[in-house]
Amino acid sequence: TRTSRPQRLLQAVCINAVRGNPDSVIAAIDHFCQNQEWAMNVGDEKGAILDSVVMETSPSTVLELGTYCGYSAVRIMRLLPPATRFITLEMNPDYAAVARQVIQHAGLQDKVCLVEGKSADLIPKMADMFGIRTFDFVFFDHWKDCYLPDIRLLEDCGLLDQGSVVLYLDYVRSSLRFSSRFYRSHLEYTRVLDGLERSEYLGHRDAQRD
Ligand code: SAM
Repeated sequence: TRTSRPQRLLQAVCINAVRGNPDSVIAAIDHFCQNQEWAMNVGDEKGAILDSVVMETSPSTVLELGTYCGYSAVRIMRLLPPATRFITLEMNPDYAAVARQVIQHAGLQDKVCLVEGKSADLIPKMADMFGIRTFDFVFFDHWKDCYLPDIRLLEDCGLLDQGSVVLYLDYVRSSLRFSSRFYRSHLEYTRVLDGLERSEYLGHRDAQRD
């Protein structure tokens, strides 16, 4: 029977990464993608920018949109203190199943809530499902046509607080209520130009009036 790319990526993790060691899981995935098959993980170069934004934000609540095989989830979680809430959403059940095993191999299964479903359906349920009031950090790495609807949805659901940081895998100027900075980078595992945008929420329009 033929395996899928995520299954082969998981196999490479199981063979090459040390159990319970997130850095070695990240290294095994990067090695697989550089030497065997390209895959749409954020990768090592943009991953380093993601690391620095996570560290400077030191969030206590984090939302990731687009888990895929769990590469960026492992990357982010390895930097978070134990009490941080980390929620990641993935609509493809096959990818979610692989991500659970990758995260388990890294020993981080107790730090994560991986929810299967579409962001548009799940974002409005974050308060009820997890008792989340606002997210300090949101990482956008799902399909790009969901970026603008989902940032508006997060705002409408009151899930952004003044100072919340949003990181996009693209150039996005969503509204004047964010202060933004673009980081140039390359498409994962290639030299194709790409980048990330870090946006800080300045507060709701109505709130800014008073
Ligand atoms: N963040 C991952 C990493 O760096 O390891 C890579 C994520 S990959 C680029 C995008 C993923 O988002 C895919 O697995 C896709 O199934 C998922 N996705 C796309 N649109 C989505 C949506 N609206 N809700 C939930 N998941 C979505």
